[in-house]
Amino acid sequence: MKTYVIGGYVRDLQLKRPSKDIDIVTIGSGIDLANEVAKSLNPRPKVSIFKNFGTAMLKYKDLEVEFVGARKESYQRNSRKPIVENGTLEDDQNRRDFTINALALSLNKSNFGELLDPFNGIDDLENKIIRTPLDPDITFSDDPLRIMRAIRFATQLNFGIEEETLKAIARNKERIKIISAERVIDELNKIMMSQKPSKGFKLLEETGILEIIFPELQKMKGVERVKGIGHKDNFYHTLEVLDRIVPNTDNLWLRWSALLHDIAKPATKKYIEGQGWTFHAHNFVGVKMIPKIFRRMKLPLNEKMKYVQKMVQLHMRPIVLSEDIVTDSAVRRLLFEAGDDIDDLMTLCEADITSKNADKVKRYMKNFKVVRQKLKEIEEKDAVRNFQPPVDGELIMKIFDLTPCREVGLIKDAIKDAILDGEIHNNYDEAFAFMMKKAEELGLERKV
Ligand code: ATP
Repeated sequence: MKTYVIGGYVRDLQLKRPSKDIDIVTIGSGIDLANEVAKSLNPRPKVSIFKNFGTAMLKYKDLEVEFVGARKESYQRNSRKPIVENGTLEDDQNRRDFTINALALSLNKSNFGELLDPFNGIDDLENKIIRTPLDPDITFSDDPLRIMRAIRFATQLNFGIEEETLKAIARNKERIKIISAERVIDELNKIMMSQKPSKGFKLLEETGILEIIFPELQKMKGVERVKGIGHKDNFYHTLEVLDRIVPNTDNLWLRWSALLHDIAKPATKKYIEGQGWTFHAHNFVGVKMIPKIFRRMKLPLNEKMKYVQKMVQLHMRPIVLSEDIVTDSAVRRLLFEAGDDIDDLMTLCEADITSKNADKVKRYMKNFKVVRQKLKEIEEKDAVRNFQPPVDGELIMKIFDLTPCREVGLIKDAIKDAILDGEIHNNYDEAFAFMMKKAEELGLERKV
């Protein structure tokens, strides 16, 4: 059977990017070919067959190999699902999204290893260009997911998008609406995980896609002026923070926290005479905006979202703390609220310092070092991270024979505050004695 390696694997081979996914296209049945290949391998791998798609997949060592018959595709206006017919290798290359993704390598005896490159994909690889093989308006309109893919590849590979291709993205931006949120977020997350996500977001913005898929982020762009006084452009500031956090974390959710930390600035922006531009409580408003964004974008609504909310809520705390004299009590409170996520919060805060003033940056970084050191000392001494008060509500109710009521809450909070303020140590005996004192003030009598 005429058989070729095609697409991403060939591209990555040229770019010397390691890849474990091999796509094989054959003129004939991909399923038959997969079964024959499996027979010849030792140990013989199991073949997974996807009848509806006419494809088959097998895993061998650490490789995932997919087999498909060459096909010709034609599209209808309202769907990104094409009508598929059997076709030639050329037909199959024509249906590929970008010239760099249409490269094929022959696996046949007569011309083994020959590169079949009908659209000069190799030149585009060398010149770092994303370009559609056919008319870009048709390519993007047929399957608008390719819009996201173009911007994602440009970001991941640090390529430029060829001018006509880029213009066609902008012209066809409305078509993105037929793509499911799940597919869009997959691509967006790949942009988030690249080495320079700002590149992708700038392309999304320039082409008008951002406004459609992420209006909250779009709103951050621009500078308003009152009496000649402007504020910083929060869109570009946010992208800078995101790029700055990349070398320090592979945690997608910390990167999302960086992207969203100032998301409520447009909603809370106010010019106040004598104070200038203010963004009062933008962290709390941001926390409230996150569930709506996550729901619409089909991001997880579980503990990952809660983590992002926590980061957004607390993102100014270490800065405020470092600007003041760093008291033990303030550090204990921050540790208590951030828990195990304290290091991530510090990483976010450090990325948030984007001032152009080198002295200022240096001063902040130095202060953060002090905060980090202090956090370490206090945690070693008092263990308030993930702290559970040594005397809980149950015990308070038992000792004073109470049902749940205001007094129980008051005593509980007083114990927590006393520990965080360093009035008492974080242990049972001191907390118990403190509880007795507090209860006496409230006129409660010990019953047990
Ligand atoms: P990555 O693994 O980084 O996503 P890839 O290019 O291997 O890169 P896949 O989604 O696995 O991406 O696609 C494999 C190949 O299938 C691509 O190289 C491309 O030739 C083709 N392809 C994938 N999606 C599309 C699409 N929406 N339109 C046209 N061709 C596509």
